[in-house]
Amino acid sequence: MTLPLFFLTLFEVADPDIGSRPRRLNCGLILALIFGGPWALAADNAARIEIDLDPRLEMLFVFRVLNDSPATSAAKERDPELVRGIQERFKHLRTHPAVVADGELDIVRFTTPMRFEALWRHAFSIWEAGTSSTTSRLAYMAGGSDKWRAWTTAAAVFAQEPTFLKHLEERRKQNAPYLDALRRMAAKNDEIGRIERYTGLAYRGKHVIKASPFELSDDAFGLVVRKDDGSVELINGISPARLDLSEIAFATSLWHEDAHGLLDTLTDLHVDRINESAGLLREAAAESPVFCGGSWVNCVRENINDAVALRLVALNYEPDLMAELSGWISQKGKFLGPLTAKLKEYEGARGKHKSLVSFYPSLLSVFPKSPVQQRPALAPAGRGANLTGMLSVAPFNTHGSRKNAAELLDLLLPGSRDPARYVQSAALRIHLGEPERAAKDASIALDLSPDDVGALLLRAESLIAMGLADRAARDLESAKKLCEAEKSPPACRMRWPTAL
Ligand SMILES: [Zn+2]
Repeated sequence: MTLPLFFLTLFEVADPDIGSRPRRLNCGLILALIFGGPWALAADNAARIEIDLDPRLEMLFVFRVLNDSPATSAAKERDPELVRGIQERFKHLRTHPAVVADGELDIVRFTTPMRFEALWRHAFSIWEAGTSSTTSRLAYMAGGSDKWRAWTTAAAVFAQEPTFLKHLEERRKQNAPYLDALRRMAAKNDEIGRIERYTGLAYRGKHVIKASPFELSDDAFGLVVRKDDGSVELINGISPARLDLSEIAFATSLWHEDAHGLLDTLTDLHVDRINESAGLLREAAAESPVFCGGSWVNCVRENINDAVALRLVALNYEPDLMAELSGWISQKGKFLGPLTAKLKEYEGARGKHKSLVSFYPSLLSVFPKSPVQQRPALAPAGRGANLTGMLSVAPFNTHGSRKNAAELLDLLLPGSRDPARYVQSAALRIHLGEPERAAKDASIALDLSPDDVGALLLRAESLIAMGLADRAARDLESAKKLCEAEKSPPACRMRWPTAL
């Protein structure tokens, strides 16, 4: 690569339970050695970005060094002293059950990011658990509940080993100047404010950066955790070797990640349209398998988030970035050029588009329709395959993710004539415990649905949504009347008892 830049691909891990999901993350364009540009005054960036080491990552790194895992080979080159120090310090713990259990887990299947997530969720007596959510998916990836239990139990014991606690304390001390430098960088520029103004969306929540001792791209990660109030906690592990490159590198990485926090739900709201292009996955995955992680929705997500980060870099730091990148783009990411061109259209039409939400469908027009042929191995990942109406809430399976989706839908609905969108909103509002609003949206959906056989399911779904809303509001009589008043209600009659 001749350019002084490279895309770094991080692995973002999943969890259907808390609104994060499996995906490979391209975690930002890291632009090395490009300085200059006017610095905007920082607003409250510093308050929203937390930067620290993480005991779980440090522990995983110790396991890997003791097991002589290839995941530590880059660190061996960059920081041989750290690796040697761990080998020496922990030699009496080489056969600790946690080290042994970690070495026995399948490294390809149960990746470092997954292990981090697992430990992050696990209630250690000395660390606060990230969230108490089910971990069945992670246990499955670990190779079953027995292996999972052996590993997490032993890790919890290892976490309290005096040797490890001493190591952790030293790591904090050693890294303090570096972490402080990063914090100063975070405080200096208003990057979160910039992406908020660019997208027209408020970033509610935190961006937590974990300075990871791991170096390989596959061992970096991001978790998007949706809190119950719809705010986001973005946990982003990045190797020190990346973050100390430059302010632009830092900003770009932040922007790409924050775009996940701001726009991922919007992507999920458009899975139907995105899946119409899912036939493009094969080509995209061949070009950049890590980037797409086997899912077309993920591919689109990563492309859009990179395009947003690119535009922000161009607007705030380096205007000629796209020209400089043209060779790279044609080789690696053919959608980035068209996406950034579309985003320029958006920038010129902010009078009409108060946020990226209303422009998002235009952005998706960059991906030509291309239905999936019979390609089971490359079929788009489970969630979001042609979900309409009531079923379209499936990707939003936590209170927080539903809240976030409902907030974004509120920006999409004004002026919309799409009954499916209103059914979706009604379904979300039922889940959120807002029956009156649900009934209102369902009623609009019914008014907008054509009264023909083709729209029968949609009408039935509108009625079901209304029925559920009435049931939630305990107005059973109205619900029943609504159904009876419907002129051609076979689906309604069939489904009404279930709905009620
Ligand atoms: Zn990403």
